[in-house]
Amino acid sequence: MARYTGPVCKLCRREGVKLFLKGDKCMTKCTLERRNTRPGQHGTSRPRKASGYALQLREKQKVRRTYGVLERQFKKHFNTAARRPGKTSENLLQVLEMRLDNLVYRLGFADSRAQARQLVNHGHFAVNGRKTDIPSFIAKPNDVISVRERAKGLEYFKVRALLLAQKGVPAWLSLNIDEMSGRVLTLPSRTDLELPFEEQMVVELYQR
Ligand code: SF4
Repeated sequence: MARYTGPVCKLCRREGVKLFLKGDKCMTKCTLERRNTRPGQHGTSRPRKASGYALQLREKQKVRRTYGVLERQFKKHFNTAARRPGKTSENLLQVLEMRLDNLVYRLGFADSRAQARQLVNHGHFAVNGRKTDIPSFIAKPNDVISVRERAKGLEYFKVRALLLAQKGVPAWLSLNIDEMSGRVLTLPSRTDLELPFEEQMVVELYQR
């Protein structure tokens, strides 16, 4: 499955905001804090006045990059969100938050979404007891995401179990450290999510 494999800090520099693409490492050592310029030869030159379209495009890129989703997949998620009743912008965030790789990250089984995606790809997780190795799998409330029995013996998950005790999970999820599993209690609302973008502009972009 295609994914971005270049330097991730460059993506934050392009957007001019911290997207926390390296997880916990972003708290201590952030490239953007040292070098807040756009990447490339003209990165330090004064930016041109952005048009409405350019602003909407940048917001879309921020959302897409935060969740590590490529354009085609992102459009699919948007279409799913648009078909659901209610506000499309909030639905879009809910669809993205319900991706399996994001849930693995939110539950603390990985330090970043990229790492979570790799763990899912390697077949270490099950949803409702069934092995699921598709990072874009969309979970629902009451679904249980668990580390598979055979993976629990891996050194990585033994260390992770100790770290989980120090971490919290969002209010819309619950975590069972003994079982190495988590449950989706409900869909998150916008106020549950601290995200550095305006998702409404993504809707405006696609509705042009
Ligand atoms: Fe790099 Fe993280 Fe800082 Fe972004 S927030 S620039 S990924 S260290």
